[in-house]
Amino acid sequence: MTGPGRVAVGIDVGGTKTLAALVAADGTVLRRRRADTPAAAGPAAVLDTAAGLAAGLLPAAGDGPVGVGTAGTVDPATGGIRYATDSLPGWAGTPVTAELAGRLGRPVRVVNDVHAAALGESWAGAGRGRARVLLVSVGTGLGGALVRQGRVDAGARGAAGAVAHLSAPGAGRLRCGCGRYGHLEALASGTGLAAGYAVETGERITGREVAARAAAGDAAARGVVARAGAGLGAALAGLVTVLDPEAVLVAGGAAEALLPATTAAYAAELPAAWVDVPLLPAGLAGDAVVVGAARLAVDEEGD
Ligand SMILES: [Zn+2]
Repeated sequence: MTGPGRVAVGIDVGGTKTLAALVAADGTVLRRRRADTPAAAGPAAVLDTAAGLAAGLLPAAGDGPVGVGTAGTVDPATGGIRYATDSLPGWAGTPVTAELAGRLGRPVRVVNDVHAAALGESWAGAGRGRARVLLVSVGTGLGGALVRQGRVDAGARGAAGAVAHLSAPGAGRLRCGCGRYGHLEALASGTGLAAGYAVETGERITGREVAARAAAGDAAARGVVARAGAGLGAALAGLVTVLDPEAVLVAGGAAEALLPATTAAYAAELPAAWVDVPLLPAGLAGDAVVVGAARLAVDEEGD
């Protein structure tokens, strides 16, 4: 994959933080600006914050375009939000592309944040040099995306790669964010770790705290993390046989905690024809979304 050949601005709109970055033609982040996302104040305030951060970077971007990765399902045709969780109240239905283009006075491209992260990782991170990469992101929730020849396969409704709702044997009667039961996200996500620990111990703590307790040797936490990691690894092994990628990348805040169990289950479940498909930790950490969004903006400028 070649670089886009110009500087662009990438924006990552998350439920708690918004990050804007000036991204060089080779995928290097040159400058960052960040702020708390005013999610509770509604979509207009969220858009104002994103635009304000990006505006400070535009002079250095020349006439470079702006790309946005955001939580929620993005309509590929309009760049509006089709569906979003409660992390961004009122975000569903927001025409993000049009609103930000109006505020910034230049073209804006919008994509789901996990899709952007997969694009960033395949361009300048752990998937560099591979034509076909599957990325899963284990954060508060669980997301995924497939990149082929430098493009995200977004699917018919912009939701391709939504691995959250695969049936997972270990998830039992845990409730998924979609409202159904026994799905992978109910097991392998920050909320899944928290729910699993509450079932085990009766104690309500965050997924991050469950991971920290597991690292410190807490037996119940270790069990919850091991089950989550194993469920994810088995699911990824199955997905590899369907999608036949060159590599699988695991990103997100809970990735490090789950990786040992995920790697073991993945290796145990993977059929012989795919044993050379590596499972790798993502490489760009918090920059993956802005890097991928900037890449998308440059790639689609002429479309
Ligand atoms: Zn679900």
